[in-house]
Amino acid sequence: MSKEEVIKKIHKFVKGKDHPMMDDPEILRDPYRTLIGCLLSLRTKDETSLKVSIELFKKARNFKELNKMSLKELEKRIRSVNYYKTKAKRIKDVVKVILKDYNGKVPNDFNELMKLKGVGEKTAAVCMLYGFGVDSYIPVDVNVHRIVNRLGWFKSKSFSESMYKLMDTIDRKYWKWINNDFVIFGKNICVPISPFCSKCVVSKNCKKVGVNKRR
Ligand code: SF4
Repeated sequence: MSKEEVIKKIHKFVKGKDHPMMDDPEILRDPYRTLIGCLLSLRTKDETSLKVSIELFKKARNFKELNKMSLKELEKRIRSVNYYKTKAKRIKDVVKVILKDYNGKVPNDFNELMKLKGVGEKTAAVCMLYGFGVDSYIPVDVNVHRIVNRLGWFKSKSFSESMYKLMDTIDRKYWKWINNDFVIFGKNICVPISPFCSKCVVSKNCKKVGVNKRR
């Protein structure tokens, strides 16, 4: 079975299942919210960062309002996310750069996004796909990275390597599905420890690389 057929099977399987972050209209389709939400979500559970993001966006609806918020207040508002002090400082820095260099608007360009401190390939790709609706990159998080390696598609050492390998080998028309579908699949079936291989729709096409214990 080709990689595209595996993607189609997973797409069909996850249809109707919720993605904790991406299904939320509060975060989606607004580059400001997508960028700040993504910075808050790094190394934090989606459910926690989503809650914090929604509360924060009630107080700061755009970069100008976020800029007015003191560092102390921002720290207080986001303290449930991991590394909140580092994140608060980073967010303040990013806000200043966006106001100064980008006229208060998130740049609609992957390479410009990557110039912002603390923004890596994953965050830039998330902004492009979910904030601007541009499917020119594939956001790869821990779930996508784990699944493509377990399937035996690649032996990649980083999220970024997985992203570029996916972009090199997968037909462009499937790019927009991969992040959303694999995140849901990774939370429900191909979980980090003891994945549910017996219930998996692509089990026959999976090399199960590195999977010792399965259910
Ligand atoms: S067979 Fe197991 S390891 Fe492979 S994708 Fe399915 S759940 Fe993951």
